[in-house]
Amino acid sequence: MRITDVRTHVLVDPGLDPGATSSAQDTIVVEVDTDEGITGIGETDLNAWIARACIESPATNTMDRGLRAMLLGRDPRDPEGIWQDLYVGSAMTGRRGAVVNAIGALDIALWDIAGKAAGVPAWRLLGEQAHEHLVPYASLQPEVSSFDAYVESMTRWATTARDLGFTAAKLEATFSGPYVHKGLEGPDEWVVEVVRAVRDAAGPQMTLMVDVQYAFDSVERALRCAESIAPYDVMFLETPLWADDLDGYAELRSRSPVRIAQGEWLTTRFEFEELLSRECVDVAQPDIGRVGGLTEARRVARMAAERDLLVVPHAWKTGISVAVAAQLAMVTPHMPVFEFLPAELCASRLRKELVDDELAFDAGRLPVPARPGIGVELNRDALAEFSEAARRATPASLGGRP
Ligand SMILES: [Mg+2]
Repeated sequence: MRITDVRTHVLVDPGLDPGATSSAQDTIVVEVDTDEGITGIGETDLNAWIARACIESPATNTMDRGLRAMLLGRDPRDPEGIWQDLYVGSAMTGRRGAVVNAIGALDIALWDIAGKAAGVPAWRLLGEQAHEHLVPYASLQPEVSSFDAYVESMTRWATTARDLGFTAAKLEATFSGPYVHKGLEGPDEWVVEVVRAVRDAAGPQMTLMVDVQYAFDSVERALRCAESIAPYDVMFLETPLWADDLDGYAELRSRSPVRIAQGEWLTTRFEFEELLSRECVDVAQPDIGRVGGLTEARRVARMAAERDLLVVPHAWKTGISVAVAAQLAMVTPHMPVFEFLPAELCASRLRKELVDDELAFDAGRLPVPARPGIGVELNRDALAEFSEAARRATPASLGGRP
């Protein structure tokens, strides 16, 4: 089997809000074609236009090859071998960051092909079955017109999630730092007020996680937050400090009564090696596309297992990323929960319409993925509409300064 083409699709949600703190408003989808009629799909979570450039750009020397050019003619059924060649072949521009993010989309497509070629779901090729079913968690998204509206919307979501059967939920409580929602800044005490309200609404059985999105500029502030939410039985506190403050994370983790989680922006096992060996986190959070695909995410999961750490990936994109996270979860025993917002509860049309979910949520659980490959196919009508929305998008329409 040989790769005959690599096609990229930059997609934009027609209803996008450039002021929103959400990366689910655009995406890059890749299709890798073969001479045997099997096509694999993948996506990754970075600026979609930059991702396309990383994949399609030509190159002039052997230290800096184009990703697409390196794939053409290869047998796709060796994702690990191809990963190494893409990584080394693009190293002068790549090694970390956007190029590795883009390799992630291609790697996912190769695992999709490998599964389809073998007639099995990709997880069967990735490792031993670790779960009889998957436990999804709901991501609760706030209404941000005021603090009262914020609390009210989060408690409403928590009640809805519980009534739907969810046994786990992650709530955003971001009132300071670079990613405050639409200027709704407030005192650190607001975080604990949201957590308390959601715990009261969701009841004592719900597993709760808290994401503050890099809110705090010091270990002391982050520690006070962790101590104040600990009585509400929080599974972990996500990204309390800036991503590069590894000294801060190491100190915070050694003193915090709540597990500390981080890693959504890291690329390659090498960045996770530093995060984990410096004992910065209790929960490793690779984004499967960004870290370099299923090949690299599986390596990170194994590194976490060696240190008795949990893995809870970041997955905030279309149904492709959801399906890929399910594949990793199936072979990762220390991945207790998995991000899955049912499409009908999500605002993003990209999430709702780009693919049909393979996995049907029922009574707090998702079944074992059974379809060949990663288990989802593209909705061609949605692909065409979102491609057109991307072609119409201009820097001005996206909120940039002319
Ligand atoms: Mg987060």
